[in-house]
Amino acid sequence: MSDPAARTILLATSNPGKAAELDGLLSGRGWRGLRPGQLGIRIEVAEDGDTFAENSARKALAFSELTELPVLADDSGLEVDALQGAPGVRTARLAEGSDADRTEALLAIMHGMPAPLRSAQFRSVVTIACRGSVLAVGEGTLRGSILTAPRGESGFGYDPVFVPAGGETTLAQLGLSDKNSISHRRAAVLAALEELERR
Ligand code: IMP
Repeated sequence: MSDPAARTILLATSNPGKAAELDGLLSGRGWRGLRPGQLGIRIEVAEDGDTFAENSARKALAFSELTELPVLADDSGLEVDALQGAPGVRTARLAEGSDADRTEALLAIMHGMPAPLRSAQFRSVVTIACRGSVLAVGEGTLRGSILTAPRGESGFGYDPVFVPAGGETTLAQLGLSDKNSISHRRAAVLAALEELERR
């Protein structure tokens, strides 16, 4: 059940998996996330900046022009060490089609790479903006490695091939609340909320 005293923030995303994670992270800190559709907002923001921070700020600022509420945007992706941090900001554009298609494209690029070369990290940059101004920014990473075949059904994106460092199960086998207890997004959201709450 949602907390009636919770402060409300607009989530600048159309990705239901990302929004579900953000809901869980925000509710633990007394915030309630709204979807753009709940405010009748339907916009596409070009995510062709050179960094996660740039894309995250672009999304937060674009949505913040359309509401009085504070807005939270996350821009995230996967950085493979042996690919010098690629796909990075291009993670969402690695292949046309579905999350499964992009995961397959990543596995094809990494085909034949032995386990020691399969280390990688997720990175998330969260921006909170209000009425055209950035109020807070937070960043988080999650180290791990990329499997050679998907495992698990939960989560989204590349979760079925990513095993967090020190673990044996993929993020897609962990489930939302366990993923939220260790994720790059958790670190980024908490850092941004702390900065916001210090203002
Ligand atoms: P964007 O931040 O919505 O542009 O997403 C960037 C890309 O990274 C998309 O292909 C996502 O599926 C992927 N991605 C971002 N965060 C995660 C995550 O937590 N797990 C799996 N894939 C992710």
